[in-house]
Amino acid sequence: MSQPEPICIVGAGLAGSRAVSALRKAGFDGRLMLLGEEDEEPYDRPPLSKAYLLGRTDRSKLRLLPETFFSDQAVEWRRGVSAVEIRPGERRLVLSDGTVAPYLKLLLTTGSEAVTLRVPGSALDGVETLRKLSEAETLRDRLLRGPKVLVIGGGFLGCELAAVARQRGCQVALLEAGPAAVTGMGKEAGASVTQLHRERGVEIRFSTSVLRFHGDRRVEAASLSDGTRVQCDLALVCVGALPRAELGVAAGLRVSDGILVNRHGQTSDPAIFAAGDVARFWYPGLRRRIRLEHWDNAQHQGLHAAAAMLGSRAPFRRLPYFWSEQYDSTLQMVGIPAPGQPQVIRGDPLTFNFSILYLQGPFITACLAVNRFADLTAARRLIGQRMVVDSQILARPDTDLRQLSQGMG
Ligand SMILES: Cc1cc2nc3c(=O)[nH]c(=O)nc-3n(C[C@H](O)[C@H](O)[C@H](O)COP(=O)(O)OP(=O)(O)OC[C@H]3O[C@@H](n4cnc5c(N)ncnc54)[C@H](O)[C@@H]3O)c2cc1C
Repeated sequence: MSQPEPICIVGAGLAGSRAVSALRKAGFDGRLMLLGEEDEEPYDRPPLSKAYLLGRTDRSKLRLLPETFFSDQAVEWRRGVSAVEIRPGERRLVLSDGTVAPYLKLLLTTGSEAVTLRVPGSALDGVETLRKLSEAETLRDRLLRGPKVLVIGGGFLGCELAAVARQRGCQVALLEAGPAAVTGMGKEAGASVTQLHRERGVEIRFSTSVLRFHGDRRVEAASLSDGTRVQCDLALVCVGALPRAELGVAAGLRVSDGILVNRHGQTSDPAIFAAGDVARFWYPGLRRRIRLEHWDNAQHQGLHAAAAMLGSRAPFRRLPYFWSEQYDSTLQMVGIPAPGQPQVIRGDPLTFNFSILYLQGPFITACLAVNRFADLTAARRLIGQRMVVDSQILARPDTDLRQLSQGMG
């Protein structure tokens, strides 16, 4: 007798791990298969650019699923095996080990990959990106040797790596092609992050990019667009990520900067779902589709897709949330600000203890908080409940946002 078809999950990162455990928790007792291209147990990525790189945590703490999960939960775990082709008409997956797997439903949680630079010398040893545990391990060892570090890209990942390298005692220069750090967060946030790094000795240059890397086998220097040349033994390329949507493209799914999904995480093929960094979905807050590379989004979309594959019709409704840690500061963002949106600033951005509330008419739609956990929590409530606010009251330093969010302001 042939075996029943499994639910297959392609990609054993955060969204895939959350989905696989949610399916069992929800009582799905059919066959369940998880494919993971990396030869690793599913692990968490945020510590790779923070505590793990600093040597403050070890591998075992990165684990996303308990050690005995696969045997306890009877999940067919295909470690180091990737899906190379989807045959949607036959509901089959072709795998890298040459086998073909039929599926009942398929969930794509293939994540994203780091963008590399296409300039001469990019292939030299020491010109690195960071996405995987194996890459973090190499970097961790290299940082111990106290190299001269050049970080390319002033987004969150670049800033986190600059912070770790400084904390490791390295000389660090950071280049940003645009006019500010963490663009998209507004000029105050950019100025604050810039000051945070400059005060700690990072040399930051804006509107500057790399034209070429120099070196024999290893990188030794970089020529920059401002006409200068900087010495470096390690160049960390942090210029963004792209969705790993290639399986979806080849299978004829609708793809445009990510695999397009509906409110139920379903792609243009009803038997195929997508979640996490690879999925592009409708966000009512901005009235357009977005794709997020946020931990919280991947976790909740994984859970949501699991429920949807079991027949739930609840739409995905989660306020976007992101955090970043740099030195001893924590930046958190809830919601997504639209360009040019009116804002109220609480506190002083240059003291690293402030928050920015982004307004749309009388409502808050997003909040950036730097070392202000209470403001973030209150803003989340104010946004979620669509409470009417007065911008003048919000701006007053003595206004307690927490009380306001509980209707006591
Ligand atoms: C260094 C780093 C630091 C981060 N820090 C933060 C942070 O501070 N805050 C925050 O909010 N977010 C952070 N993020 C982002 C967050 O980790 C991601 O949004 C999250 O990991 C996305 O989960 P995912 O499951 O969609 O994809 P991933 O975690 O990327 O997992 C996808 C997996 O699928 C595998 N795969 C791809 N194609 C195939 C295939 N064909 N067959 C089989 N397997 C395949 C990949 O190898 C990968 O293991 C960070 C990310 C990185 C890389």
